[in-house]
Amino acid sequence: LRGVVALDGPSGTGKTTVARKLADRLSAGYLDTGAMYRVVTLAVLRAGVDPADSVRVAAVAADMEFTIGTRPDRPSVTLAGEDVTAAIRGRDINQDVSAVSAVPAVRELLVTRQRKVIDELLAEIGGIVVEGRDIGTVVAPDAPLKIYLTASPEIRAARRRAQDSAAGRDTTHADVLASVDRRDRLDSSRVTSPLRPAEDAVHVDTSELNIDQVIVALAELASQ
Ligand code: C5P
Repeated sequence: LRGVVALDGPSGTGKTTVARKLADRLSAGYLDTGAMYRVVTLAVLRAGVDPADSVRVAAVAADMEFTIGTRPDRPSVTLAGEDVTAAIRGRDINQDVSAVSAVPAVRELLVTRQRKVIDELLAEIGGIVVEGRDIGTVVAPDAPLKIYLTASPEIRAARRRAQDSAAGRDTTHADVLASVDRRDRLDSSRVTSPLRPAEDAVHVDTSELNIDQVIVALAELASQ
């Protein structure tokens, strides 16, 4: 792959699995921008800061040190040297990440960092799959391929629940549906960089497709 594949869409569309497998197949780098908003949220909660306090949230984001891996086969996130790859997937993070990611100073900081990672990987290996909510609209508006993944709310909740269950967390379908719904509503209605498809994005509805079918369709688009 040469260049950037921007992969956006709401939660539970299979975005992360698809992005990693696609990057692997295209021998490209991989950047999970959601993991960045998640690690900032973890730092905010650990600092005892109210996620609604945008001034203090911005201060935590400006001060913290984190790393994020770019290998699709080995996702890894650290906060102040500690491996937090699993911790950033917790329910408390799901609950508060939308508030943290709505803070303009946090977005500014992370978008700058994301562009830097993208530039480095483009120089190093020539191609990168970047997943998030605003990649095609804000982070990499010149990306030659922009994908917007969708799936019905029922399917998205079912997928999220399967992930939770694999991680040993017991949930009900109704709880997960409410949580996925709430996050999408918050992400779509915020003022700065709301979740929305880029005008030139290719929409792919994954409701009726399994992961392999999605990968085949996207790899085909990437090769055009
Ligand atoms: O993709 P994931 O579910 O891990 O993203 C977690 C949260 O991070 C999203 O619900 C959204 O609030 C925020 N996010 C964002 N912009 C991105 C990626 C994620 O605001 N590019």
